[in-house]
Amino acid sequence: MQPTAWMDQAEQSILHTYNRYKIVLDHGEGVYLYDTEGKKYLDFAAGIAVQALGYGNQEYNEALKTQVDKLLHTSNLYYNQPTIEAAGKLCNVSGMDRVFFTNSGTEAIEGAIKAAKKYAYAKDGCTDHEIIAMEHSFHGRSLGALSVTGNAHYREPFEPLPGIVKFAEYNNLASVEDLVNGKTCAILLETVQGEGGIYPAEPGFLKGIKQICEDKGILLILDEIQCGMGRSGHMFAWQGYGVKPDIMACAKALGCGVPVGAFLMTEEVAEGSLKPGDHGTTYGGNPFVGAAVSKVLDIFEKEDIPGHVREISVYLERTLDQLKAEYPFVAARRGLGLMQGLELKPEVPAGEVSAKALEQGLILITAGNNVLRFVPPLVMGKEHVDEMAAALRGIFGAYLA
Ligand SMILES: *Cc1c(COP(=O)(O)O)cnc(C)c1O
Repeated sequence: MQPTAWMDQAEQSILHTYNRYKIVLDHGEGVYLYDTEGKKYLDFAAGIAVQALGYGNQEYNEALKTQVDKLLHTSNLYYNQPTIEAAGKLCNVSGMDRVFFTNSGTEAIEGAIKAAKKYAYAKDGCTDHEIIAMEHSFHGRSLGALSVTGNAHYREPFEPLPGIVKFAEYNNLASVEDLVNGKTCAILLETVQGEGGIYPAEPGFLKGIKQICEDKGILLILDEIQCGMGRSGHMFAWQGYGVKPDIMACAKALGCGVPVGAFLMTEEVAEGSLKPGDHGTTYGGNPFVGAAVSKVLDIFEKEDIPGHVREISVYLERTLDQLKAEYPFVAARRGLGLMQGLELKPEVPAGEVSAKALEQGLILITAGNNVLRFVPPLVMGKEHVDEMAAALRGIFGAYLA
C-alpha cells in the first residue's frame, strides 16, 4: 500500500489529536529509521527521548523475546522476578529507596502528586494543601498532570483541574519564595524543561528550592521523565546538580520503547505516604516491562551510557554553537548533555525547518517557542552529529539568501 493510502486510512479512524509528519515509519537500525518506501532517516528525536539505545539492540531485543515466551502479565497481586530485579536496579542507580512502576510519564506524575498529598495529609489531616509548579512546564496530559502543567493553552479547556496549584517562574527563585506558604506541600519542576523549550535549571535555582524545601518541610518533586536516564550525562540530571529530590518521576527512556514509567521516593516519604489501598495499577510493572527496564539498566551500566553522553554531548554542543555562529537567525543554544535546543528568531519557523529536515532524511522535532530540539538516541556517535550538521547547514543556507 502507498504511504498516502495508509495516511488516509489513519485519518478515518484515529482520533485527530496530532498533526503528524507525512511519513509512515517501518523499521529502525542503530540511529536510523526507515519508512515504508525504504527511505532512510537519521534520528535526532528518538521517539521523543525514548529510544536511548537506538533501534535493533540485539541484547535488549532478545531479553524481550525471552520474556514474551515466558510470562507477559500477572497483575500486582503477585510477585514477579523481572520487576523485582528492575526495582532494585532502579533504586540502586537513583539512590532513591522505593519505586512504583506506571505505564507512562503522566501516570508517574499522578503518583508523585498523590504521594506528596498523602504525606501532607497524614501529617496534619488537612485537604487544602498547595503545590508550586513552574510556568512553561510540561508534566503530561491526564487531569492531575495537567493541573501542574504551566501551559494555559493545554489546561484551559479542561478546567477546573484538581488541587490548588500555583505557578512560579522557572529559574527565578524569588518567584518561588513569593508563593510558599504554610499550605505548600510540594514544589514540582523538571530538572531540565523539555517541551517548554529546553531550559536547564540554573544550579543556584535548584539548590535554592532544595533549601526552601528543607527549611519548610516541603517535598521536592523532580520530573526526570525527559532529562533522566542518562540524557544529561548523569543517570538522572539532579545527580549532576547534587540536589536530591524527595520524589522523582521517570519514564520515556526507562523502557527504551516499552511503555513504562515510575515514581520513586525516599524511605521517609514512603513511610509517611502511600499505604496498601492508596494507589494501584493493573499493568504497571508487569513482568514484560520489568524485563525491559532490567535489561536497559544492565546495558546502561555495562556500556557506561552516561559516560558516553558526557563525551559526545561536548561535540554536539560545539557543533550547535558553530551553527549559531554561522547563521544570524539562530538566537541561542541551550541544553544539558544530549538534550539540546537551538532557539531560532521568528523569521525562521522551527516547524518549517523540522519539515524540511524530514525531506532531507533528518528527524528533528521542535519545542517551546521556536526551538529546534535535539534529543537523539544516546548511542549517537560524532559521525552522526556531523551528518546532522551537514543536513542542517543545507536547510539553514536557504534562509540566508
Ligand atoms: C513526556 C513527558 C511527560 C509525559 O509523559 P507521557 O509518557 O507522555 O505521559 C511528563 N513530563 C515530561 C518532562 C515529559 O517530557
